[in-house]
Amino acid sequence: MLERRYQRLQEVLNWRQPDLTVLTEDVHKPHNISAIIRTCDAVGVFEIHSVNFTDELLTYSQVAKGSEKWVHIQTHTEIKTAITYLQQRGFQVYAAHLSDVSIDYRQIDYTRPTGILLGAEKWGVSEEAAELVDGHLIIPMVGMVQSLNVSVAAAVILFEAMRQRQAAGFYDQVRLDPETYQRVIFEWSYPDLAAIYREKGETYPPLGPEGEIL
Ligand code: SAM
Repeated sequence: MLERRYQRLQEVLNWRQPDLTVLTEDVHKPHNISAIIRTCDAVGVFEIHSVNFTDELLTYSQVAKGSEKWVHIQTHTEIKTAITYLQQRGFQVYAAHLSDVSIDYRQIDYTRPTGILLGAEKWGVSEEAAELVDGHLIIPMVGMVQSLNVSVAAAVILFEAMRQRQAAGFYDQVRLDPETYQRVIFEWSYPDLAAIYREKGETYPPLGPEGEIL
């Protein structure tokens, strides 16, 4: 492992935000999922959540540009369990969804643990999900078309979240707990070796200051 590469991996992991996430509800077009993952990587989202009703989650690597390797995807079978999973961990979950109670996305405090629910390309957020979340947000628009592409909506909201978190100093300190950090830096540094350790059910060895295996 080159020292410079290890430093880059550490730098990116140091900026990861474990308490900022997106939850996709039946967003099934691979290029949209891939574009969302790429944006998540760009703003430091550590893990995203996904519920897909129709088919398995596919990404489109030309759009994701390899970012799937750096953003963990947790899939859920039902939207209810996915929303509850986040709420039980202290996340406020906002649906990006037009309704009578929607507020401007800039009014939300993204320095709180936050999950953004994004709806399907054709149908948007389901009624069930809209009722379960803590609130609805909208990106105000003044054009002829009523909605943005889902990945564009994700980007607009996530960059506002990043702006607020940067102002609050969230990217100036490591946000991951030490155990997760050690696990992920090993997996990022030595993915093939990490797979072997996992297969054997063994814990990863510690890494030295230059990323060398101790
Ligand atoms: N016809 C669908 C509907 O009625 O919701 C449009 C779905 S839109 C293409 C896909 C998803 O992108 C939406 O469910 C929402 O999560 C997000 N989205 C698109 N434009 C948005 C906006 N202006 N404000 C908030 N979310 C938006």
